[in-house]
Amino acid sequence: MKIGILGSGQLARMITIAAQPLNIATLSISSDPQDRGNGVTPHFIGSFHNEADREAFCTQVDLLTYETENIPLEIVEACRHNKLIKPSSDILRIAQDRLFEKEEFQNLAIPTTEFYPVSSLEEFAQALIKTGYPAILKTRRFGYDGKGQFIVRQPSEMAQAFESLKNSELILEAFVAFDKEVSLIAVRNSTETRFYRLVENIHQSGILRYSKITSDKADLQNQAERYAEHILKKYDYQGVLTIEFFVKENQLIANEMAPRVHNSGHWTFEGSYTSQFENHIRAILDLPLGSCEASHPYVAMFNFIGTLPEKAQLLKLENVSFHDYAKIPKTDRKLGHITLVENDKKQFEMKCLFLEKFIGFNKIY
Ligand code: AMP
Repeated sequence: MKIGILGSGQLARMITIAAQPLNIATLSISSDPQDRGNGVTPHFIGSFHNEADREAFCTQVDLLTYETENIPLEIVEACRHNKLIKPSSDILRIAQDRLFEKEEFQNLAIPTTEFYPVSSLEEFAQALIKTGYPAILKTRRFGYDGKGQFIVRQPSEMAQAFESLKNSELILEAFVAFDKEVSLIAVRNSTETRFYRLVENIHQSGILRYSKITSDKADLQNQAERYAEHILKKYDYQGVLTIEFFVKENQLIANEMAPRVHNSGHWTFEGSYTSQFENHIRAILDLPLGSCEASHPYVAMFNFIGTLPEKAQLLKLENVSFHDYAKIPKTDRKLGHITLVENDKKQFEMKCLFLEKFIGFNKIY
């Protein structure tokens, strides 16, 4: 069994690592023979923009999945003619466009941020009257890690915001003064659905810095699971689905979804009985799903962004696992992460404080 992965970053890397004990191979596609890729996933050399390469790639694999929603839909559709793709391209079409995504949340009665499509300066001005300030202007497609976004704090910033993003289709969102951000990772095969614990996510400049599993009251977990089920059922979904929410006054407001494994689920590698990566593989192959229970009461994951620390510095901490994505360092690039698992609350809190400082997190957005 060989799974073709569209994309070859750290998510493909972790899918590949999780596939090995099951004796399932993976293959990604890259046009650069020198591509170091992620250091783990084997590469087919070719471009998925080229029909012959794409077909040759598809003949070498049994099934396709993807590690990013930022793949042009026409490429994914073209692959679909050659091989089954999971999760399906129907959900990908929705998830890769913030406007479709928010409309779909509304259709499914999932609360979401107030939003307006923006295609001209006039429309932008009208939308700002409705949202008030601050508001966030975002590109509808191909944004990630806070890229393609502009926070408009006052009317004088309107022209600059529009000028900087006007070459893309846009959406204006009201700014949510949230209490915190959480995400839910759900997994479904053709018959069964399971959920991981909600995690609290701490971002800075739009990039995820760290995640901690929450001991949130059952009502938030239940709300999140109910909303996820609406999506999973509608799309007859197979694979991992991530939904990111704002929490305000104990209510969830959906921000976005990703039809794939997600950074806020990296903790599951060491902090759960079955990782999101293994469960994604099980789900797309329609195998029985594994337990999503956390292995410890306290689990956190910290991202390394822009620079990777000396491994020895952190490995001397007990109960820490280190992942180095084998990437070339670059500003704002996710290069690796560590997972911390603890039974003891005090130990956990102490180490989290140390690790927050260590990754250079400061609490100003
Ligand atoms: P996104 O790419 O939409 O996930 O945005 C990245 C981060 O920016 C989020 O995780 C939030 O911290 C912040 N953000 C995005 N949209 C909003 C919003 N409408 N209100 C407040 N904060 C937001």
